[in-house]
Amino acid sequence: MTWTPFAPLRETLRALQRGEVSSEDVTRAYLERIDALEPQIHAFLSLYPEQAIAQARQADARRARARRHPDEPVPPLLGLPIAVKDVLAVEGMTLTCGSRILEGFVPPYTATSVRRLLDAGVVIVGKTNTDEFAMGSSTENSAYGPTHNPWDLTRVPGGSSGGSAAAVAARMVPAALGTDTGGSVRQPASFTGVSGLKPTYGRISRYGLVAYGSSLDVVGVLAPQVADLWPLFIHMAGFDPKDATSRDAPLPPEPNWEAEPDLRGLRIGLPKEYFVPGMQAEVADAVRAAVQHLANLGADVREISLPHTEYAVPVYYIIAPSEASANLARYDGIRYGPREPASRMWDVYYRTRGRRFGPEVKRRIMLGTYALSAGYYDAYYAQAQKVRTLIKQDFERAFETVDVIAAPVAPTTAFRLGEKVNDPLAMYLEDIFTLPANLAGVPGLAFPVGFDHQGLPIGMQLMGPALAEDLLFRVAHAYQQTTDWHTRIPPVAQGQPA
Ligand code: GLN
Repeated sequence: MTWTPFAPLRETLRALQRGEVSSEDVTRAYLERIDALEPQIHAFLSLYPEQAIAQARQADARRARARRHPDEPVPPLLGLPIAVKDVLAVEGMTLTCGSRILEGFVPPYTATSVRRLLDAGVVIVGKTNTDEFAMGSSTENSAYGPTHNPWDLTRVPGGSSGGSAAAVAARMVPAALGTDTGGSVRQPASFTGVSGLKPTYGRISRYGLVAYGSSLDVVGVLAPQVADLWPLFIHMAGFDPKDATSRDAPLPPEPNWEAEPDLRGLRIGLPKEYFVPGMQAEVADAVRAAVQHLANLGADVREISLPHTEYAVPVYYIIAPSEASANLARYDGIRYGPREPASRMWDVYYRTRGRRFGPEVKRRIMLGTYALSAGYYDAYYAQAQKVRTLIKQDFERAFETVDVIAAPVAPTTAFRLGEKVNDPLAMYLEDIFTLPANLAGVPGLAFPVGFDHQGLPIGMQLMGPALAEDLLFRVAHAYQQTTDWHTRIPPVAQGQPA
């Protein structure tokens, strides 16, 4: 078999392990695709082609050495190229968070999640585009220009991990890291027809992930196939003393990818609050059809209720901006990134923050500062925390009667660039189906289940109890073993170079 950059990640790993292809060839093949497609898609904020090729060569040399000395350990992901969302610190690579306030900033250290993947042998080709500080659902809030959806270049790829999603959908890399505070892995995965995992809160260290909403943030991963998310997920997961909210729990066992798809005994809940008037009918239909498919594989499907779902948007848009307003206080022109000079200290702050934060970030800082201010704290922030508990309890109750919950990822397919960017409320409402998993801290796995009449991908998500990622993988993999949505490649990305 000759290797091509359209090969799924686990096949690429096997080809590397068997010496059928070199890391240098694999890395160059993806870099060529990036060269060809990046002008139309703009998935990246920075690229490191020479560094990546040098790393790939080192990987090849290491593998050759191990062949001569069979007891030398070979890192499991040796020579595999990936991309990293530009909110994760990688020593020596710029870290902009899509913001002008960190323009040119190079962090002196590497995030634990990325560190673990580097130790496992990956090659990082570049940093992907994101809404500024991961605040947004379209990548239009990036200070460096939006990413375009490979399925329709006039449309958004979703956000905030839109650069990672578009890069994966266009097969510019076999997988990419994202982050999910309120849906930022799952929604762009859904908009671009790829799979995306938002792990349990605390499963993967946040150390070196630039803080947005610290009680919600989690590192995730995107790849065309669900099974291909696993190797990256499992090597990032696990306790890290550098993150106080990191969970010290055993890692889940790897599902048997070769097993016959069989979902007998599995109870799937379909929450009635996730099928609402106003959503695109084709999305609801595709998700119902996918759930029927899971039923045909033996699952028992029942309707459930998550009664506090309607409060997820207001609760999230109080808690996330509140945490953001505190987290973003550190960007003052003194400690990080460029400084707008002025003779008085306060003017340095005003000018740097005034000129270098974009409008959405300023909106969130103001919302959050207001919700936390004396006199309003109890009415907004404290109240939102109470309702967050109710949302969490909805899930706990649901998981007493079902094993997983199946739901749409977003109420619509990818919208047009510019369509919602001046209407923050419409943009926030896009997040209605993804926010609850973050508020509850439970894992969510998104994957493609069809296309709408305009040829745009439709995604579904499975949510499970905390730490039950392996169950989500098993169910979604059974779906992908018996369907082929995840193998579709956007027309712009189908040709050369392959
Ligand atoms: N769209 C949501 C927001 O704007 C979620 C973003 C995210 O998950 N980072 O906050």
